Amino acid sequence: MSDDIRTTIGLRPVINVSGTMTSLGASIVVPEAIAAMSSILPQFVEINDLQRKASAVIARLTGGEAGFVTASCSAGISLAVAGAITGNDLLAIERLPEVTTTKNEVLLQMGHVVSYGAPVDQAIRLAGGKVVFVGQATSAHRFHMENAITENTAAAVYVVSHHVVDYGLLNLKEFVEIAHARGVPVIVDAASEYDLRIFLEQGADIAIYSGHKFLGGPTSGIVAGKKELVRNAFLQNMGIGRGMKVGKESIFGAMAALEAWEKRDHAGIRERETSYLNLWKQTLDGRPGVTALIEPDPTDNPLDRMRVIITAQDAHITAWDLADALARGTPPIVVRDHEVEHHYFYLDPCNLHPGQEKIVASRLGEELDKARASNEIIATPLENRSKHRFDGALRWPD
Ligand SMILES: *Cc1c(COP(=O)(O)O)cnc(C)c1O
Repeated sequence: MSDDIRTTIGLRPVINVSGTMTSLGASIVVPEAIAAMSSILPQFVEINDLQRKASAVIARLTGGEAGFVTASCSAGISLAVAGAITGNDLLAIERLPEVTTTKNEVLLQMGHVVSYGAPVDQAIRLAGGKVVFVGQATSAHRFHMENAITENTAAAVYVVSHHVVDYGLLNLKEFVEIAHARGVPVIVDAASEYDLRIFLEQGADIAIYSGHKFLGGPTSGIVAGKKELVRNAFLQNMGIGRGMKVGKESIFGAMAALEAWEKRDHAGIRERETSYLNLWKQTLDGRPGVTALIEPDPTDNPLDRMRVIITAQDAHITAWDLADALARGTPPIVVRDHEVEHHYFYLDPCNLHPGQEKIVASRLGEELDKARASNEIIATPLENRSKHRFDGALRWPD
C-alpha cells in the first residue's frame, strides 16, 4: 500500500466494484495509453494533424469514415448536435448557443431522457438544440417519431445505456429508418459500449464513445461516423468545443487505448472476471437473507455482474446499509447501488486489480457476519439516503 499515491496524498484507497464511474476516476488506464501520454507530453505537435491521425485510427476501429477525440462522450453529443445545426458555417459556430436557424430541433425518445451524471438533454440544449421528446417514458411508436419530424428537425439522438427504459421504445434500426426516410441524421450515445462498430453498421450517422470507460483510455470522448458530420462537429472546436478541449496527451492516449483494445485478450479478461464472480458467489451462497445471481449486462456488453439481493429480515441488514458499510470500511468498497431501493446492489468485476476480488469477498463476509450477530436489524430509513444524497457536494470543498 505504501506505493499507492492515494494514501500518500490523503485519499481513501477505494476499491471499485461499481463499474466505470466518473465519480471514482472512470477506469484503470491501460499501460499503452499511459506510455503514449507520457511520450507526447513534452513535445509540440500540430493538433489538427494529430486529430487526423486519430481520425484514421477511429475510422479503422469503428468502420466510420472519420473521427476525432474530444473531452468526453457528453462533449461529443454537444459537438455532434452543434455540427448538425450549424453545418460548416463558421459564423453560426461562433454564435452558439444562440441559433440563427429554426432548424435546431433534436428528437429524443422520452425513455432515453436519462442522467449519466448530468442530463442527456442538457448536452443537446448546450449546443443550441431544442429537444423534442418522442413518445412517453415506456412507449415510443413509429407514429410518435414520424409526426415529430418537421422541416425544423436537425438531428435525432439515440441513447444506448442500462439507464434507459428497456421496453416499449423504438430500437435503433427502426429509429434510423424513420429518421433517414426524412433525411434526419442519427447520433448515437454509445458511451459505455464495447462494440465499436455495431451502431454505425445499424445505420447511425455518428456514434460516440467514452475513451475512459471500457477502452481504458484517458478521460475523453470518441466521435465517429460520416465524414461531413464529423467534420462539422470537429469545427465546433472554434466555438463551444473550446471549453471541451482535449490536449495532445488525451488525443494520443485515446488513440493508444483504441489500438490496445484491438489487441486486448478479451477472452482472458472475461475468464478472470468470471473467476471473481464465482468467488463472490461462493462467499455469499448459503448466507441467510442473501441471494447472489450472476447476470448478463443489460445492453449486451460481454460482461456479467453479480446481483446481491438482501432480505433484511434474515440478513439483519438492508441492502443500502450493507452498501454504505462497505463504502465506509477499510478499505472502502464502492458497489453498484443505483437500484438499491429494490433491495439489491451489483458487484461489477470489470475494474479490479488482481487480488482485490479477495478483499471484496472478505469484506462482504465480515459485514454480513457482523449484521447476523447483531440482535437488531440494521435498517436506516431509505429516505435518509435520498435526503442527504447531495450534502457532501453542497458542502464541497469542506
Ligand atoms: C457515461 C455515459 C455518458 C457520459 O460519458 P462521458 O464520457 O463521461 O461524458 C453518456 N452517456 C451514457 C449512456 C453513459 O453511460
